[in-house]
Amino acid sequence: MQIAANNPNRKSWLNVADNCDFPIQNIPFGVFITKDDIITIGTRIGEYAIDLGAFHQLGYFEGIPLTDDMFMQDSLNDFISDGRKTWRLVRNRIAEVFDAENASLRDNLKHREVIIFDVNEVEMLLPISVGDYTDFYSSKEHANNVGMMFRGADNALMPNWLHMPIGYHGRASSVVVSGTKIRRPYGQMLPNGETQPVFGPTKALDMELETAFITTDVNNLGEPISIDEAHDYIFGMVLFNDWSARDIQKWEYVPLGPFLGKSFASSMSPWIITMDALEPFKCDGPKQEVTPLPYLQQKTTENSYDIKLQAAIETENGDLNLLTESNFKYLYWSMAQQLAHHTSNGCNLRAGDLMGSGTISGPTKNSYGSLLELTWGGKEPITLKDGTTRTFLNDGDNVIIRGYCKNDKVRIGFGKCTGKIMPPVKLKK
Ligand code: MN
Repeated sequence: MQIAANNPNRKSWLNVADNCDFPIQNIPFGVFITKDDIITIGTRIGEYAIDLGAFHQLGYFEGIPLTDDMFMQDSLNDFISDGRKTWRLVRNRIAEVFDAENASLRDNLKHREVIIFDVNEVEMLLPISVGDYTDFYSSKEHANNVGMMFRGADNALMPNWLHMPIGYHGRASSVVVSGTKIRRPYGQMLPNGETQPVFGPTKALDMELETAFITTDVNNLGEPISIDEAHDYIFGMVLFNDWSARDIQKWEYVPLGPFLGKSFASSMSPWIITMDALEPFKCDGPKQEVTPLPYLQQKTTENSYDIKLQAAIETENGDLNLLTESNFKYLYWSMAQQLAHHTSNGCNLRAGDLMGSGTISGPTKNSYGSLLELTWGGKEPITLKDGTTRTFLNDGDNVIIRGYCKNDKVRIGFGKCTGKIMPPVKLKK
């Protein structure tokens, strides 16, 4: 089936500013609550949020087999579960109805009133009910940098790293939507030079510049998915900030890996950009230095995406301080390899599962994806516009991640993923 929704020449009758992340070629999916307190699944064109529950009720999806309440839900899980054919039909129809030449909704003011909202008048909610959350560690530059700091240059990259996408199981309950405030977590840590641990608020709160992909129902328990099929099960991608408390992490991570240093919160952007919309931005990933085992070998080298990423700190005086500019294409292991590896033991993945990429660091210092790397373990503080310095995040800092793809015809963006750091809660004891 053609992805007619991607037609780069199409214009919408809704106004879309140049350089907007959400032209009619994007058509992402999200969940929002309207000013009338109605929760619905929706999409976005320009600065407009489109209520797909109302759109469906008023007959604009006629001819597409969809349950009546498909979009009148507080998560995208059921829609995602319907599979790629449905996602394509729905995106194609939305593109058709909002095409500048199509009068059906354009000239129906009554319908427009109940379907179309100013995006600033709706509140974005978490778009999926996250069943399971896995975080990979697939940027070689990041793994190398962290390895050097935690274990020294000789053991930086563990011997398994070039043979498989390393990951760990994260915490689904604390995945929050962009804009949710982040409490500085407490934890146990071993201060430098001490022999006894202490308990208290983290002194090394960090961000991780990541993307994440969301799966549909993939496999039955016990049945791996081959790498050639893997891509068919990926619905779309979001920006992702996998908040990390480095002092807690450093003390707890041996031998079983990340735990409380990570599980206090992870933030995701509210609009899921479909793999279909990202199709024009496919590109080669890094050449893999070691030929992977057959179950991880891909037929094509074009298995990555050119997605420009950046992270900034907004201080309380409103200054925006750009920290880093990276790109999804630097990731060593592809999403297909991550998915094939994840199911290779028969572990079943379901609709609404979330797979973090791992921190995406580029090859140069201004493209590192975490403060841990940017300040080299806190040794090289960053000076912000207001003259203050950071090794890790201060209370009041708002971390803003952005991402977009662009070619000479169209820009497909992710919007932003933000989270402001709040002081730790007061403990009773
Ligand atoms: Mn991470």
